Amino acid sequence: MAKVMAVNAGSSSLKFKLYEMPEEKVLCSGNAERIGHEDAIFGIKWNGQEEKNILPILDHAAAVELLVKALIDKGIVKSMDEIVACGHRIVQGGKYFSKSELFNKDTEDKIESLIPLAPLHNKAHLVGFRAFKKILPDSVNVAVFDTAFHQTMSEEDYLFPIPYEYSEKYDCRRYGAHGTSHKYLSQVGLKYCEGIAHPKMIICHIGSGASLTAVKDGKCVATSMGLTPLGGIMMGTRTGDLDPSVMNYLCKCTGKSVEEMYQIFNKKSGFLGVSEVSNDSRDVLKACEEGNKKAIIANRLFVRRIADFIGQYFVRLGGADLIIFSAGIGENSTITREQICDAIAPALGIEIDKKLNASIRGKEALLSTPNSKIKVAVIPTDEEVMIARDTYAYYLKK
Ligand code: AMP
Repeated sequence: MAKVMAVNAGSSSLKFKLYEMPEEKVLCSGNAERIGHEDAIFGIKWNGQEEKNILPILDHAAAVELLVKALIDKGIVKSMDEIVACGHRIVQGGKYFSKSELFNKDTEDKIESLIPLAPLHNKAHLVGFRAFKKILPDSVNVAVFDTAFHQTMSEEDYLFPIPYEYSEKYDCRRYGAHGTSHKYLSQVGLKYCEGIAHPKMIICHIGSGASLTAVKDGKCVATSMGLTPLGGIMMGTRTGDLDPSVMNYLCKCTGKSVEEMYQIFNKKSGFLGVSEVSNDSRDVLKACEEGNKKAIIANRLFVRRIADFIGQYFVRLGGADLIIFSAGIGENSTITREQICDAIAPALGIEIDKKLNASIRGKEALLSTPNSKIKVAVIPTDEEVMIARDTYAYYLKK
């Protein structure tokens, strides 16, 4: 038995989940939010109990110190030596990483060199990693990349039709994201593909960030996010794919700079921008029920984009055996799932049990009926357990 910590460090947050491996038993989980503020929040759940405190957490190192204190005070560990390994989520692994990797100087340097491709994320991941390394100098540290699962795409799927020189010189190409989630879902989804020699899946990870992936034989063939997580389908605050001239045109119309407009495409668009209600689909759906026209069109845009990508991936895969819904919206929004299925049903011949669909929130279920040409399932995602598994595997090899 070994205790393994899965870490997800953001620019102002630090999420953690401690596992007993190989049983995959969750010993505790929690989050430090608003790091850098006097009124930061530290929350932890363990053994059926929960605690949340508002206090100053000035940097990630302070957050890790709070975590250590909580682990000892609450008797979750007797000493920090019990934590033999830490796995760190890294959003951008670029072209360098097609699997998880031990943290060493080379790994750290490469993650650092990729900061221009994920400025907020990669920088924060390194800060988190260094804070843990200071407190747990002897533990095995592993980098688990969001982009790694998508490295199996072929050139025709990952290249952009820009001058080839730019693709080569600046590594400007599709990398995708949410890869750890898509990989997990593709593995769990296999149970619905028994007897199929080369399973083909279309995986919809739809939360506040959202991406679709086409998977064949357990390998990613195509994914909707692009150079960064801004691409693909519309999201909570992000545009998803746009005609590139929209940037040029709107900068001219508004007098805003490219950087300002880029921030608007990332943070003020999607559900929030179109509905003018909220980035949260729950609020938008409520506004739809109240007849808010902008909310209704925002929701229709969202469903349309997802249906279009499913159609695209159906063609890309040469058919599909399974469609998976996951993440915040995919797991919980029964109405959105129904609307997407209604949009693709006439072309793809799928049929779901609508009554069953309406009762499924946050748990796994097969929604399709035996008549359906493609199986449709809800599978809750679990990125942390994938981080713990890869990290534990490196610990065993040590
Ligand atoms: P995630 O990023 O996967 O944590 O997903 C978060 C998003 O899921 C939220 O912003 C909501 O838009 C959405 N969500 C969560 N629960 C529900 C629900 N019951 N109905 C509709 N949307 C939901």
